[in-house]
Amino acid sequence: MDGLAELHTHLGGSVSSDILWTLAHEQGIALPVKDYWDFDRLVTVSDPRGVPDLDALDQIYHWTELIQSSPIAVETSVHQAIGGAYRSQGITTLELRFNPMKRNRGGERDLDHIILAAIRGLDRASLEYPQVRAGLILMMDRTFTQRQNEVIVEKAIGWSSRGIVGVDIAGPRPGHARYDYRSVQPMIEEARSAGLGVTIHVGEEGGDFGRQEIGEVLEVLRPDRIGHGILAAGDAELMRELREAEVVLEICPTSNLLTKALADEDAVRAVFRTFVENGVRFTIATDGPEMMRTHLRDEFDLLLRIGALAQDELDEANARGHEASFVRGGFRAARV
Ligand SMILES: [Zn+2]
Repeated sequence: MDGLAELHTHLGGSVSSDILWTLAHEQGIALPVKDYWDFDRLVTVSDPRGVPDLDALDQIYHWTELIQSSPIAVETSVHQAIGGAYRSQGITTLELRFNPMKRNRGGERDLDHIILAAIRGLDRASLEYPQVRAGLILMMDRTFTQRQNEVIVEKAIGWSSRGIVGVDIAGPRPGHARYDYRSVQPMIEEARSAGLGVTIHVGEEGGDFGRQEIGEVLEVLRPDRIGHGILAAGDAELMRELREAEVVLEICPTSNLLTKALADEDAVRAVFRTFVENGVRFTIATDGPEMMRTHLRDEFDLLLRIGALAQDELDEANARGHEASFVRGGFRAARV
């Protein structure tokens, strides 16, 4: 297998604990722990049994996002995440996603400074690791106002010539209610017209309404890719739509196990076999290797070991990752 491709990893989960620890100290951030190993447990999913739910994961992100809330910290984080992915995993296509508005201390820091710092990190990594095709995805948030999300997409479009390659939306659902993805349709349309890739976090959990959300996203937002989308595995109609639209799912097996989105390895295997049998396209990712304490090769090993995918199917999923990357254009879903 040539270089690996990883398309779904959050900046807040992609930086190793030792670097975050130093960044926190450089900035004088007040931490609730004084020992490095306690800190390591604070900023990663340290219990092998995982977290109770996505809200608990959000608490971990709270710390990594706080530490990454300055231009220097964002620059170092992007630079380190790309270099680390290449050195440790041989990743040659990498997309890193982050929400700049969760890194500007509620408006205290200028958003353009944060985004340009990420771009500087990308540029530095490109000089050191010219073998890597890397790009940045700016994320909207389900807890944000319409205006906040509009600003994020305006920024993504404004900096698209400098390495911002796509947009996404994630974050907890307010009140655990079904999220109305139509609220971001105008922003997504603008991003698409500006040539940005569109990937959407949906179908990770939420049962029936999670499935309804996938249907709505496919119809209203017409994404190139979907973050997770595993709930579609139980629904023939959704799988048909995904297949026909040639949408690529970014599946993160260990993350799904740690957050209890999938109950066990049998459930992981069932999801993958169902997608393979139904011609649904997917690629494999970690969601954030440092926070999830897994790396892309570990994910491949897991899928092989549990019989979720055979080697040729893994190779195909990896090749699809390179193809489906938003970096330097090239890929758009069929019906865009
Ligand atoms: Zn994610």
